[in-house]
Amino acid sequence: MRFWHTAAALTWLQTILKERFGHTFDLLPQPEANHIALCVPGDARCIQLALDGSTFTRTDSSLGCARWNALDEGWDTALPGSLPAPGGHDLCAPLITATESGWHIGYDILGLTYWMLTRQEEVGRTDLDNHARFPATASHGYMHNYLERPIVDEWLHVLGQVIGRTWPGIRLTRHRFEVKVSHDVDSPSLYAFKPWRLVARMMAGHILKRRDLGAFCTAALVKQMTKGTLHPADPHNTFEWLMDVSEANNLTSAFYFICGRTSDMDADYEPGHPIIRALMRRIHERGHEIGLHPSYGTYQRPALVAQEAERLKAILAEENIQQSAIGGRMHYLRWEQPTTLQAWNDAGLAYDSTLGYADRPGFRCGTCFEYPAFNPASLQPMSLRIRPLVVMECTIIGGVYSEAISLGSAESKILELKGKCRALGGCFTLLWHNSFFTGGVSLKKVYERLIEDKS
Ligand SMILES: [Zn+2]
Repeated sequence: MRFWHTAAALTWLQTILKERFGHTFDLLPQPEANHIALCVPGDARCIQLALDGSTFTRTDSSLGCARWNALDEGWDTALPGSLPAPGGHDLCAPLITATESGWHIGYDILGLTYWMLTRQEEVGRTDLDNHARFPATASHGYMHNYLERPIVDEWLHVLGQVIGRTWPGIRLTRHRFEVKVSHDVDSPSLYAFKPWRLVARMMAGHILKRRDLGAFCTAALVKQMTKGTLHPADPHNTFEWLMDVSEANNLTSAFYFICGRTSDMDADYEPGHPIIRALMRRIHERGHEIGLHPSYGTYQRPALVAQEAERLKAILAEENIQQSAIGGRMHYLRWEQPTTLQAWNDAGLAYDSTLGYADRPGFRCGTCFEYPAFNPASLQPMSLRIRPLVVMECTIIGGVYSEAISLGSAESKILELKGKCRALGGCFTLLWHNSFFTGGVSLKKVYERLIEDKS
């Protein structure tokens, strides 16, 4: 039988705890006693964490889920309601008890952290959607109604309190809530990179189907007049405006470019085109970030991810754009765990921000904190960092993935998720495509309010 608590996994979890709490703890497995001792070197006090070695190596979603009411036992919760305990059956009551040397916690918080952060649940899955993605609806989090809660962070919030009561002298890190916005550049221009015959067909649609003379004229103007840079009237050219909004809110926008073609689901531009080079120079000049958006067919092909990363790096070098690191996100959020993970790591990329679901918003990895990746197949820690994606705009707006809801309801839902990240002091990540503002000013207003919201 496999166990999750390998030496490499425990060392990696030490790093996770160090990043979270600002303190290095020893993690000493005591399998015969079914717990892991969390200790401070040279100190007799310790916290015993229940060890459920085999549950958290499971690659299916049919494990049970208990609930724990922290308030009943005098512990604080970061979010209201009882805390889901995936893999738990009959939790002991009380769950957290005092021992001679500290405390005993009757739930495997570290195992849960391992299972969620490594996406062990997704390894080898075949119940995929039409883009071969593991869908939210197949996940344990969705089925047990905790996908919209960063439960790893919530459990670590509890662990932090137990640490505080065990070692009152230890000062734990307090994290500041942050917002990160990113923009997948699937279509930098609505017309410029399309052949005239296609633009002509679009123009016919504007006039015959939609009776929209304005759009008809804009199409002709943009196609004709786009020369060295994107045209200001181009409906997809929202780059300057996105950077304005970010700057007004002390944020940096990250723009991820497609640098290869593996399918007709990819972009109609080449990253080396003079217009795209000019756009990259402008993004860099304004202090924003350029990243990689590996093309549709790369998620199972590490060599192609590396090739596309090299192509982007070469273009940046030619344009004298120096960035300390390159991160990004997979096109269509296509991801096969751990193939794609290993591909990103081996391509020398700094971070990936794919891991949210296309069909539902929320916390695919159970956390709103960035963290170092761990490969659940090779059982090796990685230099790649995972920046979980909380919301992709088209998951909630537009009715592509689920039933269409009003713009007001969509805004409320996104703000609710942002509020949860704020409550944990984590990072709210929002993907909003530069091309997702067509159809009036209302979407721009929604976007501005989402970014500005300080409540
Ligand atoms: Zn994309």
